[in-house]
Amino acid sequence: SPAAAHVRSLLASYPDFPQPGIMFRDLNPVFANAAAFRSIVDELVDGHHGRFDAVAGIEARGFLLAAAVGYAADVAVLAVRKGGKLPGTVLTEEYDLEYGSARLELEVGQLPAGSRVLVLDDVLATGGTVAATSRLIERAGYVLAGVGVVVELTDLAGRSRLGDASVHAVVSI
Ligand code: 5GP
Repeated sequence: SPAAAHVRSLLASYPDFPQPGIMFRDLNPVFANAAAFRSIVDELVDGHHGRFDAVAGIEARGFLLAAAVGYAADVAVLAVRKGGKLPGTVLTEEYDLEYGSARLELEVGQLPAGSRVLVLDDVLATGGTVAATSRLIERAGYVLAGVGVVVELTDLAGRSRLGDASVHAVVSI
């Protein structure tokens, strides 16, 4: 796809960041290219087959995608935040990362029950982050419509942790 060609040409890779043994994929050069960013947003909108009522962006780069895809698809936008940043009644999920552990949170009551939510993030690695987000979506009373990511790191088999969810990756590496 046009988006995949942009990602493959602009993606930067940093060995041993932020820890030895990790090959970090930096998407900032991709997002910094207007044509590349637009093509990614278009593909994430069109690449999901089926209706969705909202997008949920995972902090922080997922927010950039969710804002743009939400606008382009004319749907609601949810922010899934790292622990301790949201007020009011929040749902919490703890999970293990490729490096370290983390906590994600979602405020309840933002959408009607049964709303179909497309989860967006920049990179699908081990899948722990998206899996925790999909638990938050379901605990909040919504339905996981699917998952969209820019880069899927296939060695880490993140897809296998997402059950039968429909996952669209612009590029699989
Ligand atoms: P997972 O939970 O799938 O192992 O990791 C995915 C989360 O960690 C995503 O939110 C993603 O932003 C971040 N992440 C993991 N590996 C990378 C990477 O190589 N590059 C970037 N940009 N983010 C990564």
